[in-house]
Amino acid sequence: MIDERFTRALHVEALRRAGVLDGAAPHHLFQASTIGALLEGAYEGDVSFAELAAHGNLGLGTVDHLDGEMIALDSRFLRADADGRVTPIDPDTRTPFAVVVPFEPSLQIEAAGPVSQAELVALIDESVAEDADACAIRVDGDFERVRLRSVPRQEPPYRPLVEVVAAQHVFELTAVAGTLVGFRFPDHSHGIEIAGYHLHFLSADGTRGGHVLDFSGTPSEVLIDLSTDLHIELPSGVELTDEHLDESTEAASIARIEHDG
Ligand code: ZN
Repeated sequence: MIDERFTRALHVEALRRAGVLDGAAPHHLFQASTIGALLEGAYEGDVSFAELAAHGNLGLGTVDHLDGEMIALDSRFLRADADGRVTPIDPDTRTPFAVVVPFEPSLQIEAAGPVSQAELVALIDESVAEDADACAIRVDGDFERVRLRSVPRQEPPYRPLVEVVAAQHVFELTAVAGTLVGFRFPDHSHGIEIAGYHLHFLSADGTRGGHVLDFSGTPSEVLIDLSTDLHIELPSGVELTDEHLDESTEAASIARIEHDG
Protein backbone atom coordinates (compact mmCIF):
# COMPACT_ATOMS: atom_id res chain seq x y z
CA MET A 1 0.00 0.00 0.00
CA ILE A 2 1.19 3.48 -0.78
CA ASP A 3 0.87 6.10 1.91
CA GLU A 4 -2.30 7.97 1.03
CA ARG A 5 -0.88 11.44 1.76
CA PHE A 6 2.15 10.62 -0.33
CA THR A 7 -0.01 9.45 -3.21
CA ARG A 8 -2.03 12.63 -3.13
CA ALA A 9 0.93 14.96 -2.79
CA LEU A 10 3.20 13.38 -5.34
CA HIS A 11 0.87 11.58 -7.70
CA VAL A 12 2.99 8.49 -7.43
CA GLU A 13 2.71 6.23 -10.38
CA ALA A 14 4.42 2.90 -10.20
CA LEU A 15 5.62 1.56 -13.52
CA ARG A 16 6.83 -1.80 -14.56
CA ARG A 17 9.24 -2.32 -17.40
CA ALA A 18 6.74 -1.65 -20.17
CA GLY A 19 6.21 1.89 -18.96
CA VAL A 20 9.82 2.88 -18.65
CA LEU A 21 10.40 4.37 -22.07
CA ASP A 22 7.56 6.88 -22.14
CA GLY A 23 9.94 9.83 -22.13
CA ALA A 24 10.31 13.03 -20.18
CA ALA A 25 7.60 15.52 -19.21
CA PRO A 26 8.24 18.91 -17.59
CA HIS A 27 8.14 18.85 -13.76
CA HIS A 28 7.69 15.07 -13.71
CA LEU A 29 10.25 13.25 -11.59
CA PHE A 30 11.30 9.82 -12.74
CA GLN A 31 12.67 7.44 -10.16
CA ALA A 32 14.27 4.03 -10.58
CA SER A 33 13.28 1.74 -7.68
CA THR A 34 12.86 2.90 -4.06
CA ILE A 35 15.14 3.95 -1.23
CA GLY A 36 13.52 1.13 0.78
CA ALA A 37 14.81 -1.44 -1.72
CA LEU A 38 18.27 0.15 -1.65
CA LEU A 39 18.29 0.03 2.16
CA GLU A 40 17.66 -3.70 1.95
CA GLY A 41 20.64 -4.24 -0.34
CA ALA A 42 19.00 -4.25 -3.79
CA TYR A 43 22.13 -2.91 -5.49
CA GLU A 44 21.36 -4.07 -9.04
CA GLY A 45 18.57 -2.40 -10.98
CA ASP A 46 17.04 -2.79 -14.42
CA VAL A 47 17.09 0.77 -15.78
CA SER A 48 20.09 1.75 -17.92
CA PHE A 49 21.54 5.24 -17.94
CA ALA A 50 20.45 5.53 -21.57
CA GLU A 51 16.86 4.97 -20.37
CA LEU A 52 17.32 7.30 -17.42
CA ALA A 53 18.56 10.04 -19.78
CA ALA A 54 15.25 9.81 -21.65
CA HIS A 55 13.46 10.94 -18.48
CA GLY A 56 15.60 13.81 -17.28
CA ASN A 57 18.83 15.78 -17.40
CA LEU A 58 19.36 16.59 -13.72
CA GLY A 59 19.34 14.34 -10.70
CA LEU A 60 21.16 11.93 -8.47
CA GLY A 61 21.42 8.32 -7.43
CA THR A 62 23.89 5.52 -7.57
CA VAL A 63 25.20 2.91 -9.99
CA ASP A 64 24.86 -0.91 -10.07
CA HIS A 65 26.88 -2.56 -7.27
CA LEU A 66 26.45 0.71 -5.33
CA ASP A 67 29.54 1.79 -7.25
CA GLY A 68 29.77 5.39 -6.03
CA GLU A 69 27.46 8.43 -6.09
CA MET A 70 25.72 9.43 -9.33
CA ILE A 71 25.36 13.05 -10.42
CA ALA A 72 23.23 14.05 -13.42
CA LEU A 73 23.81 17.61 -14.60
CA ASP A 74 23.16 19.22 -18.01
CA SER A 75 22.42 15.76 -19.44
CA ARG A 76 25.80 14.39 -18.31
CA PHE A 77 25.64 11.28 -16.12
CA LEU A 78 28.68 11.03 -13.88
CA ARG A 79 29.91 8.76 -11.13
CA ALA A 80 31.96 9.88 -8.12
CA ASP A 81 34.01 6.94 -6.88
CA ALA A 82 34.74 6.19 -3.22
CA ASP A 83 37.40 8.91 -3.21
CA GLY A 84 35.25 11.48 -5.02
CA ARG A 85 36.96 11.17 -8.41
CA VAL A 86 34.45 11.72 -11.20
CA THR A 87 34.15 9.74 -14.44
CA PRO A 88 31.39 9.47 -17.08
CA ILE A 89 28.94 6.58 -16.79
CA ASP A 90 28.52 4.29 -19.78
CA PRO A 91 24.93 4.49 -21.15
CA ASP A 92 24.60 0.68 -20.90
CA THR A 93 25.41 0.73 -17.18
CA ARG A 94 22.35 0.26 -14.97
CA THR A 95 21.19 1.89 -11.77
CA PRO A 96 19.57 0.37 -8.66
CA PHE A 97 18.34 3.82 -7.51
CA ALA A 98 18.17 7.20 -9.24
CA VAL A 99 15.88 10.23 -9.55
CA VAL A 100 15.93 12.60 -12.52
CA VAL A 101 13.84 15.44 -13.93
CA PRO A 102 13.94 17.41 -17.18
CA PHE A 103 15.01 20.48 -15.21
CA GLU A 104 12.90 23.56 -15.93
CA PRO A 105 13.15 26.02 -13.04
CA SER A 106 9.88 27.52 -11.82
CA LEU A 107 11.51 29.64 -9.14
CA GLN A 108 14.74 31.54 -8.54
CA ILE A 109 15.81 32.25 -4.96
CA GLU A 110 18.08 35.12 -3.93
CA ALA A 111 20.85 33.95 -1.62
CA ALA A 112 23.29 36.83 -1.27
CA GLY A 113 26.63 36.33 0.41
CA PRO A 114 28.14 33.26 1.99
CA VAL A 115 25.55 30.82 3.31
CA SER A 116 25.77 27.62 5.29
CA GLN A 117 23.80 24.56 4.25
CA ALA A 118 21.32 25.28 7.07
CA GLU A 119 20.86 28.87 5.87
CA LEU A 120 20.32 27.88 2.25
CA VAL A 121 17.84 25.18 3.25
CA ALA A 122 15.96 27.77 5.36
CA LEU A 123 15.78 30.10 2.34
CA ILE A 124 14.36 27.35 0.15
CA ASP A 125 11.91 26.34 2.91
CA GLU A 126 10.68 29.96 3.07
CA SER A 127 9.94 29.93 -0.65
CA VAL A 128 8.59 26.42 -1.17
CA ALA A 129 5.55 25.52 0.96
CA GLU A 130 6.03 22.72 3.45
CA ASP A 131 3.16 20.72 1.98
CA ALA A 132 4.39 21.19 -1.59
CA ASP A 133 5.20 18.29 -3.84
CA ALA A 134 8.83 17.44 -4.21
CA CYS A 135 11.11 20.02 -5.79
CA ALA A 136 14.33 19.71 -7.74
CA ILE A 137 17.19 22.02 -6.81
CA ARG A 138 20.21 23.40 -8.66
CA VAL A 139 22.69 25.69 -6.90
CA ASP A 140 25.72 27.02 -8.77
CA GLY A 141 28.36 28.91 -6.86
CA ASP A 142 31.74 29.20 -5.21
CA PHE A 143 32.04 26.99 -2.17
CA GLU A 144 34.43 27.60 0.71
CA ARG A 145 33.92 24.06 1.86
CA VAL A 146 31.95 21.04 0.71
CA ARG A 147 31.91 17.92 2.89
CA LEU A 148 31.10 14.87 0.80
CA ARG A 149 30.82 11.15 1.09
CA SER A 150 30.86 8.30 -1.35
CA VAL A 151 30.60 4.55 -1.09
CA PRO A 152 32.82 1.71 -2.35
CA ARG A 153 31.64 -0.81 -4.96
CA GLN A 154 29.89 -3.84 -3.45
CA GLU A 155 29.88 -7.47 -4.54
CA PRO A 156 27.24 -10.09 -3.69
CA PRO A 157 26.13 -11.25 -1.22
CA TYR A 158 25.13 -7.65 -0.62
CA ARG A 159 25.10 -6.14 2.85
CA PRO A 160 22.33 -3.73 3.90
CA LEU A 161 23.02 -0.06 3.13
CA VAL A 162 23.34 0.80 6.83
CA GLU A 163 26.41 -1.47 7.02
CA VAL A 164 27.93 -0.19 3.78
CA VAL A 165 27.50 3.44 4.74
CA ALA A 166 29.15 2.74 8.09
CA ALA A 167 32.30 2.29 5.96
CA GLN A 168 31.60 5.33 3.76
CA HIS A 169 34.45 7.55 2.67
CA VAL A 170 34.09 11.16 3.84
CA PHE A 171 36.19 13.89 2.28
CA GLU A 172 36.19 17.66 2.00
CA LEU A 173 36.78 20.04 -0.89
CA THR A 174 37.76 23.64 -0.15
CA ALA A 175 37.61 26.78 -2.30
CA VAL A 176 35.86 24.98 -5.14
CA ALA A 177 33.45 26.25 -7.79
CA GLY A 178 30.69 23.85 -8.60
CA THR A 179 27.05 22.83 -8.55
CA LEU A 180 24.74 21.23 -6.00
CA VAL A 181 21.95 19.15 -7.55
CA GLY A 182 19.17 17.32 -5.79
CA PHE A 183 15.70 17.25 -4.37
CA ARG A 184 13.51 18.08 -1.39
CA PHE A 185 10.92 15.39 -0.75
CA PRO A 186 7.93 15.68 1.61
CA ASP A 187 8.11 14.19 5.10
CA HIS A 188 5.73 11.41 4.19
CA SER A 189 8.01 10.04 1.42
CA HIS A 190 9.58 7.48 3.75
CA GLY A 191 10.33 4.13 2.16
CA ILE A 192 10.01 5.49 -1.35
CA GLU A 193 12.38 8.43 -1.08
CA ILE A 194 14.57 10.25 1.38
CA ALA A 195 12.36 12.77 3.19
CA GLY A 196 13.87 16.24 3.23
CA TYR A 197 16.91 17.38 1.30
CA HIS A 198 19.19 15.11 -0.70
CA LEU A 199 21.99 16.84 -2.59
CA HIS A 200 24.99 15.75 -4.62
CA PHE A 201 27.88 17.98 -5.70
CA LEU A 202 29.93 18.27 -8.88
CA SER A 203 32.95 20.57 -9.16
CA ALA A 204 32.89 23.02 -12.08
CA ASP A 205 35.91 21.32 -13.63
CA GLY A 206 33.97 18.04 -13.54
CA THR A 207 36.66 16.13 -11.65
CA ARG A 208 35.29 15.83 -8.09
CA GLY A 209 31.94 15.09 -6.52
CA GLY A 210 29.84 13.06 -4.11
CA HIS A 211 26.88 12.96 -1.74
CA VAL A 212 26.68 16.23 0.22
CA LEU A 213 26.92 16.07 4.01
CA ASP A 214 27.51 19.80 4.58
CA PHE A 215 28.73 22.91 2.80
CA SER A 216 29.22 26.65 3.00
CA GLY A 217 29.52 28.92 0.02
CA THR A 218 28.32 31.83 -2.08
CA PRO A 219 25.63 30.83 -4.57
CA SER A 220 25.56 32.62 -7.90
CA GLU A 221 22.20 31.07 -8.76
CA VAL A 222 19.62 29.02 -6.80
CA LEU A 223 17.03 27.45 -9.11
CA ILE A 224 14.01 25.38 -8.08
CA ASP A 225 11.83 23.16 -10.28
CA LEU A 226 8.53 22.53 -8.48
CA SER A 227 7.54 18.97 -9.33
CA THR A 228 4.04 17.80 -10.00
CA ASP A 229 4.43 14.06 -10.46
CA LEU A 230 6.66 11.20 -9.44
CA HIS A 231 6.91 8.17 -11.68
CA ILE A 232 8.59 5.19 -10.08
CA GLU A 233 9.94 2.28 -12.05
CA LEU A 234 9.86 -0.85 -9.90
CA PRO A 235 12.33 -3.61 -10.72
CA SER A 236 10.98 -7.13 -10.42
CA GLY A 237 10.93 -8.11 -6.76
CA VAL A 238 10.51 -4.52 -5.55
CA GLU A 239 7.05 -3.54 -4.34
CA LEU A 240 5.55 -0.47 -2.74
CA THR A 241 4.48 -2.23 0.44
CA ASP A 242 3.73 -1.44 4.04
CA GLU A 243 7.09 -2.78 5.03
CA HIS A 244 8.77 -0.04 2.97
CA LEU A 245 6.57 2.51 4.63
CA ASP A 246 7.09 1.60 8.25
CA GLU A 247 7.94 5.04 9.50
CA SER A 248 9.48 4.05 12.79
CA THR A 249 12.14 1.80 11.28
CA GLU A 250 12.79 2.99 7.74
CA ALA A 251 12.70 6.71 8.41
CA ALA A 252 15.14 6.24 11.26
CA SER A 253 17.51 4.24 9.02
CA ILE A 254 17.29 6.78 6.23
CA ALA A 255 17.90 9.70 8.54
CA ARG A 256 20.94 7.98 9.93
CA ILE A 257 22.33 7.16 6.51
CA GLU A 258 21.62 10.31 4.55
CA HIS A 259 21.83 13.12 7.04
CA ASP A 260 24.44 12.15 9.62
CA GLY A 261 28.04 12.14 9.11
ZN1 ZN B 1 23.11 10.70 -2.13
